[in-house]
Amino acid sequence: MSLVQLYDTTLRDGAQREGISFSVVDKLRIAQKLDELGIHFIEGGWPGSNPKDVEFFNKVQSLALSHAKLVAFGSTRYPKTRAETDANLQALADAGVKIVTIVGKSSNLQVIQVLETTLEENLSMIADSINYLKAKGLTVFFDAEHFFDGFKANPSYALRVLKVAAEAGASCLVLCDTNGGTMPEEITTAVEAARKLTNVPLGIHVHNDSELAVANTLAAVKAGATQVQGTINGYGERCGNANLCSVIPDLKLKLGIDCITDAQLAQLTEVSHYVSEAANLVPDTFLPYVGASAFTHKGGLHVSGITKWVDSYQHIDPAKVGNRQRAVVSELSGKKNIIYKAKERGLDLSLRGKEAQKLLEQVKLLESRGFQYDNAEASFELLIHRAQPDYQPPFELVDFMVVIEKRRRLPTKKNLEETLSEAMLKVRVGSEMVHTAAEGNGPVNALDEALRKALLQFYPSLAEVKLVDYKVRILEESTGTESQVRVLIESSDGIEVWRTVGSSTNIIEASWLALADSLEYWLVKQRL
Ligand SMILES: [Zn+2]
Repeated sequence: MSLVQLYDTTLRDGAQREGISFSVVDKLRIAQKLDELGIHFIEGGWPGSNPKDVEFFNKVQSLALSHAKLVAFGSTRYPKTRAETDANLQALADAGVKIVTIVGKSSNLQVIQVLETTLEENLSMIADSINYLKAKGLTVFFDAEHFFDGFKANPSYALRVLKVAAEAGASCLVLCDTNGGTMPEEITTAVEAARKLTNVPLGIHVHNDSELAVANTLAAVKAGATQVQGTINGYGERCGNANLCSVIPDLKLKLGIDCITDAQLAQLTEVSHYVSEAANLVPDTFLPYVGASAFTHKGGLHVSGITKWVDSYQHIDPAKVGNRQRAVVSELSGKKNIIYKAKERGLDLSLRGKEAQKLLEQVKLLESRGFQYDNAEASFELLIHRAQPDYQPPFELVDFMVVIEKRRRLPTKKNLEETLSEAMLKVRVGSEMVHTAAEGNGPVNALDEALRKALLQFYPSLAEVKLVDYKVRILEESTGTESQVRVLIESSDGIEVWRTVGSSTNIIEASWLALADSLEYWLVKQRL
C-alpha cells in the first residue's frame, strides 16, 4: 500500500465551483477516469442533499472500478436529534458504499455561532453519528471542518474533537482548512499536534483562497498526513481546492512518494483535459504540469537551449505527466524556434539556416502588421509551405466584393429592417477560374459561403470542415490613425482542430485571410 492515499472530491467539492454542473453521466465517466488514474478514494457526492447524487450512487454500482473505492459524503446529525432518525445519515447508510465521510465542526466559534449549540452537544453529534454508521458496518472518515482555524482559536477543543472522533471509531481524521487562509507553517504545527494525539491516520483537505492549497497539502504530508484530498484542476468552492494535477506529480516526482504508478501518472494531462471538457470549461493552458503552456518555450534563448539540451529549461520530462514540450513562434523568436517548430509540426522541409532566417524575417514582418502565430499554428505551417519553391496552393483568390445592405421592409413584416450581406468572389483552382456569389447573415459568413461554393466542386470533402470559433481583436498598439484588426479562426473537421490568423486595417480582409488559411491548411493536409 502506498504511503499516501489519494482522495478525489471533484464530483462533490469540485462541483461547488461557480459555473460547474456535472450530469450523472459526466460523473460516472469522470469516476472511471479517476479509477484509471489510480486515485484510491472517489467521493461521489452527497446523497442526503440532492436526488442527482442519489441517482449517481445507484448507477455507479454497475461501474467496474478496478482500483478506486467509492465514498459517499454527508454531515453529522443535527443538534438535539437522534442519529437513528437523521435523514442525512440514513441516506449515507443507503448509498450502497462501504466508506462514508462525514463532516463535523472542530472550531468552537463555528459550533457556538453557526451551529448554535453547545460545545458538548457538538461532541455528542460527532460520536453518535460515527457510532451509528459504524454499527451499519461502514468505514467512516471524519472531516474536521475549520480544523486549522479552530486550532488557532482554541487548540484544546479542536484536538478534543479529533479525540472523540477517533474514539468513536473513525478510520481517518481529515483536517480541513475550510476557509483556505492558513499558512504552511501553521499547517505543520497543527498536523504535528494532531499526530501526537492519536494513531488514527490523518488526512488533509485544503482550499486555495491564499493560493497555498498545494503547498499546504505537501506541508501536511511532511508533518504526517497520509490521506490527501483534492480535485482535478483544483476545481472547487470559491478559489478551489488543492489541485491534484499538481499535488500528485509533486508527491511522486519531487518527494519520491509513489502514490500512483508511472503509467498512471502519464495519463494526468489527459485526465485534466477530460474533466475540464466535462465541466464545460476551457482547459487552463497555464496550469503547472498539465497545461498546454507548462512546457512551452517562446524566448529565442530558451529554444536555442532546448535544441542543445532538452532539459535546459524544464524541471521535469513532460512525458512523465503526459504533456509535451512546445516552442512558439513570435517576434521574440530566433531562427532556432522556426527550425524547431517545423520539426515539431512533422514538416521535413529541409529548412536550412538561410531559409529559416528568411522565414523568420517574414514572420517578424507579418507580426509587425498584427499577425500573431503563438496560437495560430496552422497559419504558421502554411508560411513554411509557401516558403518552398515548389509549393502549389490548392486555390488562389483573384478578387472579392462584399455588399452590405440595410433595407426597410414592407410594413406588414415583423422586423421592419433587415441587413443583408452578399459576397462575390473569383478564385483560381489550378488552371480554372471560378466565379461565385453567396448571401450570408453577415459579410464574413457570406464570404465563407461563396468560397466554399467555389471550392466544393473541386474538393467535395471540404464539406467536413466547420468554423468552430471566430474572435476579433482590435490592436491598439498599432501605429497610425486606423486601427489594426486581428481575426483568429478555429476550425475543425470533427477530428482535428486548428487555428488560423488574419490581420488588416479592414475587418473583412482580416477575416478573409484567416478563413482562406483555414481551408488551405486543411486541403494541404489532405495532400500530404
Ligand atoms: Zn472543501
